[in-house]
Amino acid sequence: MEKLQNFIDGKYCDPIEGQYIDNYEPASGKVYSLIPNSDAQDVELAVKAAEKAYPVWSKMSIDERSAIMVKLSQGIEARMDEFVQAESRDNGKPVTLAAHVDIPRAVSNFHFFGTAILHFASESHNMEGVGVNYTLRKPLGIVGCISPWNLPLYLFSWKIAPALAAGNCVIAKPSEVTPYTAYLLGKVAKEAGMPDGVLNILHGEGGGAGDAIVKHKKIKAISFTGGTTTGEYIARTAAPMFKKLSLELGGKNPNIIFADCDFKEMLSTTLRSSFANQGQICLCGSRIFVERSIYDKFKEEFVKRVENTIVAHPSDAMAKLGAVVSKPHMEKVLSYVELAKEEGGTVLTGGKRVIVEGYEDGYYLRPTVIEGLPFDCRTNQEEIFGPVVTITPFDTEEEALIMANSTQYGLSATLWTSNLKRAHRMSNEIDAGIVWINAWLVRDLRTPFGGVKASGVGREGGWEALRFFTEPKNVFVKY
Ligand code: NDP
Repeated sequence: MEKLQNFIDGKYCDPIEGQYIDNYEPASGKVYSLIPNSDAQDVELAVKAAEKAYPVWSKMSIDERSAIMVKLSQGIEARMDEFVQAESRDNGKPVTLAAHVDIPRAVSNFHFFGTAILHFASESHNMEGVGVNYTLRKPLGIVGCISPWNLPLYLFSWKIAPALAAGNCVIAKPSEVTPYTAYLLGKVAKEAGMPDGVLNILHGEGGGAGDAIVKHKKIKAISFTGGTTTGEYIARTAAPMFKKLSLELGGKNPNIIFADCDFKEMLSTTLRSSFANQGQICLCGSRIFVERSIYDKFKEEFVKRVENTIVAHPSDAMAKLGAVVSKPHMEKVLSYVELAKEEGGTVLTGGKRVIVEGYEDGYYLRPTVIEGLPFDCRTNQEEIFGPVVTITPFDTEEEALIMANSTQYGLSATLWTSNLKRAHRMSNEIDAGIVWINAWLVRDLRTPFGGVKASGVGREGGWEALRFFTEPKNVFVKY
């Protein structure tokens, strides 16, 4: 069986204690590789390598640093198929999704931040007749990047790329559930000419290697994407050490549909915003609120479309949904369907496991639509993070807003309306870091990305990410 390795100081190596964890293929439910179960000793090794590399990387000219990052981006592009197949196998997502979204986006992340750094400027503040202040933006040093399993390389590179571009050395850990494309990245970084020790990739459990990264004194910042409970723990651990923290956490996003929307476009986008990546995108709209006058029409047509949605092996070109990421996750999602029934909900479609011929142990679920639940019940308040949505009618804009803002989360929201005034008014009032009007998941890498309330602290993307990974220093010069 294939054994993955850590990538430390520009070399692949085994974990010091020689411990490994099983890596499952969600599509078949079988173990297909082993990954290092790294611990604090491996983190220490990576920190030592990063310390050695930091003077080289942070002092390298921006042009040179940029060129290496662009080569890294091209290196992934040149191995597109290898990365696509690996991502799909590791995560269970359809190959078509990995090919159109995940891996192209990882390519873009390195290219975007590798070139953004060429244009990153700092401010100066003139004091008439007195002097001038200018701001230096220095890299932080060694930073930790910890990412989740849903969009493995996409989110891993979304953190690593700005951290590296800003001149930091990185200790990164992908989710133990989806380590493979991060494992492949070491080789590409090496070929791109990344100096040894600049990018170190460790594998292992959150509570092991992840925790050791968060607790290491020499790691100056933690950029984390994952669940709210883990984020809370990380904040509690890292804040007293005065680390900079960027936390992208859970969501329970509202999708608010008004009768005056473009129904056809709304319907096909809502299908995607509900179930893309098996509903395992932090931006999926899992609570659908529909204006009462079109509720029945929406329900009928949406459920029909959901029933026709193909769930199949990820390599099947027809698959709209593949497998969910793991057995415990599948069981968690199914337990929420049971909870919804206990809370008085009616399952309009789905709610069941799917057996795919030849892959009987795979983790396949039918996309699920539930109605008849109060907006404040657990099903409508807790993040399920699977192919499950609820639909709820509303009568007024005010009512829709109250329901939309009722959860502890505030990541994203989608609004469907052709009334411009209402679109602006509601965007202003919704608790969310991102609002899409008549669209979903249209991403511009320059925009601030992140959530409010329990969905996180800080913003990623564009200048926000480069600011996070740098420390401003003000210098005053007297005239
Ligand atoms: P987790 O919080 O379980 O894990 C995220 C990462 O943190 C993994 O690499 C995990 O490692 C690691 N980790 C776990 N415990 C610790 C710890 N004590 N110290 C340090 N690291 C730790 O989230 P999931 O992987 O289950 O991802 C799903 C969650 O991510 C959902 O809540 C989703 O909403 C959120 N998410 C948020 C996004 C956003 O931008 N706001 C985007 C995408 C997802 P391991 O897996 O090995 O345990």
